[in-house]
Amino acid sequence: MQPDEKSGLKFEKELIGSQFMHPDGRQVESIIEVRVNPVTGRTSRIAFNRSKEKESGTERLPAPPPDAEKTDTCPFCRPQVFEQTPRLAGDQFATERLEHNESLLFPNLFPYGRYSGVSLFDNSHFMEIGTASLSSYTDSFINCQNYLTSLFRSDPRALYMAITQNHLPSAGGSLVHPHLQVHADRIATNHHRFLRRRCAEYHTRGGSRLFSDYLACEKKQQQRYIGRTGDWHWMAAFAPEGFFEIWGILPGRFSMLELDREQWQTLARGVLNAQRFYRSLHRNGYNLGMLCQEDGRNVMELRVVILARSNYAAWVRNDHTGYEVMLGDMTTFSAPEQTASAARPFWNA
Ligand SMILES: [Zn+2]
Repeated sequence: MQPDEKSGLKFEKELIGSQFMHPDGRQVESIIEVRVNPVTGRTSRIAFNRSKEKESGTERLPAPPPDAEKTDTCPFCRPQVFEQTPRLAGDQFATERLEHNESLLFPNLFPYGRYSGVSLFDNSHFMEIGTASLSSYTDSFINCQNYLTSLFRSDPRALYMAITQNHLPSAGGSLVHPHLQVHADRIATNHHRFLRRRCAEYHTRGGSRLFSDYLACEKKQQQRYIGRTGDWHWMAAFAPEGFFEIWGILPGRFSMLELDREQWQTLARGVLNAQRFYRSLHRNGYNLGMLCQEDGRNVMELRVVILARSNYAAWVRNDHTGYEVMLGDMTTFSAPEQTASAARPFWNA
């Protein structure tokens, strides 16, 4: 495919045929597609043939895990949450834990960086994917924003910020009680470092913003664009690095500290739409991530990435094989254009 005329962004893909003798005696050619991510330049693969395989544990939505009943031993459930979770230290905060309506935020007992928080949605201990309320997600996001705002005021060097979510242990969550993680650090993560450089180079070269231009290409092509919620635009990732990967782009906005309630609420709506889509595919685990950097340079726009993970159920295989871990190319099984087509009804409902 030719580069986009206006932005020069390339949506490259190439089909590869792999030939072998099938056990039934036929000579067959299995088709794999290699795609290049226009943002990162990283390659990923789609092994169409594998969609015919029965993915274990996805015949139906898995039953709730045994921990779904254990509210009395869960450190995130009330009332024990007030005794068993850490309290905010230092003079950045006037309270020991941040509250925003039903959402409660406190430091992570096992931090990943200088500032590492946990933001609960509410006192619901187990929530099936796609069934959370819009207000609970909106409040939890805003609680994260309040935490980051206070941190940045007292420590402006902690400018590398992120909100992430591991829904269920198969996606990395250590507790089934739903929560977001919120991070701020003086040291950039790999993705912060790489995306900052990529967005800055792109802006220097052409004067425009990478994610805005990417979005414009997707809207023009109309193959992977899913829909919008308020100012957020949603699409299936062109070169996915996770199953059924969906991006939400908020063009022209760079800082999580500056979003208003409406923008958090419409973000939450898109996230819940994606969750309901995953539920329809009988997936119960997923990751979410959004990062920003408060360097005042306004080149890296806000983008949230959402992808399904292996199911949290007995004897399910992990979605990262030796190929992904050792070679670095994610292999998924269906075209992003199919993902977009299957996801659209959840944005139009
Ligand atoms: Zn709980």
